[in-house]
Amino acid sequence: MSYVLGLKCKECGHRVPVSAVHVCEACFGPYEVEYDYARMKGKVTRESIEKGPKSLWRYKDLLPVDKPVTGFHSGFTPLKRADRLARELGCSQLWIKDDSCNYPTYSYKERVVSVAISKAVEFGFDTVGCASTGNLANSVASHAAQAGLRCFVMIPHDLEQGKVLGSLIFAPTVVRIRGTYDDVNRLCTEIADKYGWAIVNVNLRPYYTEGAKTFGFEIAEQLGWKLPQHTIVPTAGGTILPKIYKAYKEFIELGLVEDTKPKIYSAQAAGCNPVVKAIQNGSDIIEPQKPNTIAKSIAIGNPADGYYAANVVRDSGGWGESATDREIVDAIKLLARLEGIWTEPAGGTTLAVAMKLIASGRIPKNESIVISITGNGLKTQEVVVDELVTPRVIEAKLNEFDGLLEENAAKAKGEPVGVLAEV
Ligand SMILES: *Cc1c(COP(=O)(O)O)cnc(C)c1O
Ligand SMILES: [Zn+2]
Repeated sequence: MSYVLGLKCKECGHRVPVSAVHVCEACFGPYEVEYDYARMKGKVTRESIEKGPKSLWRYKDLLPVDKPVTGFHSGFTPLKRADRLARELGCSQLWIKDDSCNYPTYSYKERVVSVAISKAVEFGFDTVGCASTGNLANSVASHAAQAGLRCFVMIPHDLEQGKVLGSLIFAPTVVRIRGTYDDVNRLCTEIADKYGWAIVNVNLRPYYTEGAKTFGFEIAEQLGWKLPQHTIVPTAGGTILPKIYKAYKEFIELGLVEDTKPKIYSAQAAGCNPVVKAIQNGSDIIEPQKPNTIAKSIAIGNPADGYYAANVVRDSGGWGESATDREIVDAIKLLARLEGIWTEPAGGTTLAVAMKLIASGRIPKNESIVISITGNGLKTQEVVVDELVTPRVIEAKLNEFDGLLEENAAKAKGEPVGVLAEV
């Protein structure tokens, strides 16, 4: 039995039944899924959730899907206590929510795509697609392959090779478009209208975005049914940030967690930070930007839900901060060195921003902090390849190894532990 009541416009409250629409017919605002929380009470409980599968579908009662078709192994990623990083930052309760290992394409996008593809099948679509900065394309292509759907993914022409191959391998039609993500997105809106396909983040957007709540549900459940005081979230189109907050609010509404007033923070790259700018200027208007950053997966200059992301940050008492490309790369390396997690620039951005917020005192060092790591560094090798030491080749002789160690000991003063010889 589904608890979904229908779709409701976020702006004017206009209601329509569940269907493949996304823009309010009365005011052009975005539709959002509405649930019957009153009916959930006493039925959707900690126990009922804990009995569920170890995937994002353990929260199916709070998702707009009747019959999941993919994502049976997606979600339920680790919430890792990060004590070594905490020591470095001087804070005491630090966790990494780690979607760099999300199955099967290693990003947070498995969450939104599992819901959207399942919904596309429920609606009877045979063709799916997306406008993507890379990770969404990878995930849609994989889930479409699993569900046996025809798939078109549209991406900007200049993405990292790992992101392009990471789609091609699943044999969709990949279309590289000269322009920014915002150009890609505009074209996809026209494609959805003309061809009647399910473009997951366009005409299935109300369902797609709901999948992002599972990131927040998992944080709360994995903290032992508690909310963190501070959650730092990367912001691109502005989907995941408001949905983490919505997840926290839903758990509060259902009595599953106590309302400890969780604060949400937006992290963006300095080369594309329209949401952070709006937050810092106290403005309601998101001024579009032309992105220029290595953090391509979050380089959206005109974010569809940027306004809502900024609002949630303000509402919760959080803040927004940006990080330069240099800070992003340094944060990627720090996370790898201290916690064994290799993230992509989006994750580097989030960590770099968290470090600034902690250092400036905006986030108190003794409170509970969750850093959202949303993507995997293996896909964006370009950003670190020139940063790392090329390992020396030696003959298979112990004396050569001894010599190498001696040489390193001599010159590695001040170098991080574990670095072997330079070329
Ligand atoms: C898509 C994406 C995000 C966030 O995007 P939103 O549109 O704001 O939800 C963050 N990190 C990575 C790695 C992504 O691929
Ligand atoms: Zn409306």
